[in-house]
Amino acid sequence: MMTDACRHFPAHDLGYTTSAMQEDEICSIIRSKLVDGELPHEKCQMTWFGPGTGQTCVACTAPIAPSDVECECEHPDRGVLRFHRQCFAMWDEMREVRA
Ligand SMILES: [Zn+2]
Repeated sequence: MMTDACRHFPAHDLGYTTSAMQEDEICSIIRSKLVDGELPHEKCQMTWFGPGTGQTCVACTAPIAPSDVECECEHPDRGVLRFHRQCFAMWDEMREVRA
C-alpha cells in the first residue's frame, strides 16, 4: 500500500494551511481517488490559477471559496478539473505514485 505517500509530502512548502479540512484527510481522499481512477495520473496540459468561484473541488469535493485560490487544469481526457491550490499541489505530488 501507499501509506507513506503523505508523510513525504512537504505540506509546509505550500505556504499556507487549510482551515476546512486536515491535510492528512485531503491526502487520503486524493490517494484513494487516484487508486479508483477518479483522478487522473497524467499531468494536465494547461493550468490556471485564480480566485475561487464557489465551484466544487474535484479532489476534496468542498466548494472553492473566493478567498481561496482555484486551480483549473485542462486534462486531455477529463476536460477541465478544478482544485483548491492546496489540493492541486497534493495531487500533483501524488499522481505519479501508483498503487
Ligand atoms: Zn480541494
